[in-house]
Amino acid sequence: MADVVDAVVVGGGPAGLSAAMSLGRACRSVRVVDAGDPGHFAADAVHNVIGFDGVPPRELRERAWAQLARYDVELIEDRVVGAVRDGAEFVVRLQGAGEPLRARTIVLAGGHRYDVPAVPGLAERFGRTAFHCPFCHGWEVRGTRLAYIGHPGTEAFTTVLGMWSGDVRFVAVEDALDVRDGDDGCVLIETRDEGDLEVDAIFVHPSLAPVDDVPEQLGLVRSEHPMSVVPARIEPTGPMGATTVPGVFVAGDLESLPPSVTSAMASGTRAGGAALHHLSGAGR
Ligand SMILES: Cc1cc2nc3c(=O)[nH]c(=O)nc-3n(C[C@H](O)[C@H](O)[C@H](O)COP(=O)(O)OP(=O)(O)OC[C@H]3O[C@@H](n4cnc5c(N)ncnc54)[C@H](O)[C@@H]3O)c2cc1C
Repeated sequence: MADVVDAVVVGGGPAGLSAAMSLGRACRSVRVVDAGDPGHFAADAVHNVIGFDGVPPRELRERAWAQLARYDVELIEDRVVGAVRDGAEFVVRLQGAGEPLRARTIVLAGGHRYDVPAVPGLAERFGRTAFHCPFCHGWEVRGTRLAYIGHPGTEAFTTVLGMWSGDVRFVAVEDALDVRDGDDGCVLIETRDEGDLEVDAIFVHPSLAPVDDVPEQLGLVRSEHPMSVVPARIEPTGPMGATTVPGVFVAGDLESLPPSVTSAMASGTRAGGAALHHLSGAGR
């Protein structure tokens, strides 16, 4: 039977790795299981992250892994497919071969999938010439021709984008028939009534969607999320990421708003601290 570790972290994005660092530095044994397909890998770089502005997402992860190597933190490139309580412990089952992991606490940090509106050609360009967050990628396309493909009633977002460019067009999702590459790096949006609209970048509002049912297996219930059309958020019971299930903590996009690398890091650090508090037995 596998040794019981102090924590299994489900998901090795900014949230999970931050939780692992807090716990590792607290002399705890940690296993981070990461399926390795976070949404932001589609982008060339992460921005608006002080100290890491412009760093490619994979490099951010590699730097974190290198720093975690000095602690009792093992990174497992796999996917968690099952998690259940077994007495005072949790049993965590992985997709790949190997024994299930056993842990005293679990930090859920699997993030969300970012579903862009169903316009042909849009999903392939998400992170490259189509973006959702102007704080993350607006600077790189400032002063260029922008289009916001959105649902009617959300046109006001073009006013926000006006802080980055004086040339912002609104295209209703229903009127955007197709997105394809134009000349010299521009993007063509085929519109229902006006033919092709040539722009340099597109903004959209994706809908966040659950990536697994591990929270549900542990007895958690997702709640409404302002950026999702389905219940997607695991709402913590307090500011430190505790959940309704003792010993299970939540961090990152799964719980925090707005979704960003820095929010995820902060939330992971808090959840790691809360897991440590739980492990110490203080307050019980
Ligand atoms: C295209 C794009 C660009 C972005 N650019 C920026 C930016 O420039 N700046 C910024 O601040 N924010 C940016 N964001 C938002 C930011 O990436 C997220 O808010 C942040 O990464 C969330 O961190 P997280 O750790 O909660 O989740 P994620 O980064 O999504 O990481 C979750 C990890 O968990 C893994 N996982 C999920 N389920 C399981 C499972 N069952 N078992 C094992 N592993 C699992 C996933 O594969 C993934 O590796 C961007 C998002 C996207 C989609």
